[in-house]
Amino acid sequence: MPVKNRFAELLPEITEWRQDIHENPEILFDTVRTAKVVEDKLKAFGCDEVATGIGRTGVVGVIKGKSTASGKVIGLRADMDALPILESTGLDYASKTPGAMHACGHDGHTAMLLGAAKYLAETRNFDGTVVVIFQPAEEGGGGGKEMCQDGMMDRFGIQEVYGMHNWPGIPTGQFAIRPGGFFASTDQFEIRIVGKGGHAAQPNKTVDPIVTTSSLVTALQSVASRNVDPIEQIVISVCSIESSSKAFNVIPDAVTIKGTIRTMSKETRALAETRLKAIATSTCTAFGATADIRWIPGYPAMVNSEEQTEFAASVATEVSGACELADLTMGGEDFAYMLEERPGAYILVGNGDSANVHTPEYNFNDEAIPAGCSWWAGLAERRMPAA
Ligand SMILES: [Zn+2]
Ligand SMILES: [Zn+2]
Repeated sequence: MPVKNRFAELLPEITEWRQDIHENPEILFDTVRTAKVVEDKLKAFGCDEVATGIGRTGVVGVIKGKSTASGKVIGLRADMDALPILESTGLDYASKTPGAMHACGHDGHTAMLLGAAKYLAETRNFDGTVVVIFQPAEEGGGGGKEMCQDGMMDRFGIQEVYGMHNWPGIPTGQFAIRPGGFFASTDQFEIRIVGKGGHAAQPNKTVDPIVTTSSLVTALQSVASRNVDPIEQIVISVCSIESSSKAFNVIPDAVTIKGTIRTMSKETRALAETRLKAIATSTCTAFGATADIRWIPGYPAMVNSEEQTEFAASVATEVSGACELADLTMGGEDFAYMLEERPGAYILVGNGDSANVHTPEYNFNDEAIPAGCSWWAGLAERRMPAA
């Protein structure tokens, strides 16, 4: 099963969809036009069911195979949202909305999954059910989480779920995947260190939160170096330190620090949170100050299931001749929530030698479409072979 001929035929049409979505980017949950485009197309393809308003602006389509005797149901997920970036590609189909841009290629993801849906609804050459999932707000809004909270997995009986992201730097249409922890959790923390301010020349009459903070920032690094198993990944970055004093001769009452913790597993994530809180509290106590800690949960770590990863890689190998082992990334991915609810896998498809995602020069590479669509279709046909 190399790239399916049908997708070579459909390429001009899918490219047109992709460029239309590119021209009309929408941010976070505001993917109203995009969701309508998706809904209309899924209905035109003859999907057995098209549901809207899941996770606010999410859309789900159901495609039944020639038979459904296997009882298998797999979910295929794409994201639809753009980023608040001013596009500088100069393309003739560049964003018509200044300050919004498809700079992460979600236009390509949506178009590829639509292409696969069209093919699967046409051919139905499988024994089971395919659920195509189009989610809003991947870029920090937790659209995938909201779709799960709306009961999507149970409502459509989804048993396993697959996702794909384009990746600059991987040759166009080639694939890379990784079992286990793949994308990081993205929690934030904010700690207010409260002491007692005063004259810089009389520190003995103060509880200096600057000195306390200096020790705390250093001590926090011991979570990574002394608490977490050295073979586990973790990043702790303090990115902002703000004093309530702006003067050179006034010791402040308080200092606020902000940062992020990235991990690859539930266990490390929980350990990091516990240790951060303990170190902040006890360091402040040791200096006579107090710590007011805010833990702001982000996306969980995205963990690929072993068996589904192996299967996804085998389909990718059939499409493109190989599937590489992907590097870990400490970035986050909202698909993590779907993988917390169901086993599944997330794969990278090469975008070639393009500008990086999240930059104003980036563009999705339409030449990746046939491979991406073939992978989606191959998942359905291979996982649920026609009787
Ligand atoms: Zn992104
Ligand atoms: Zn993305």
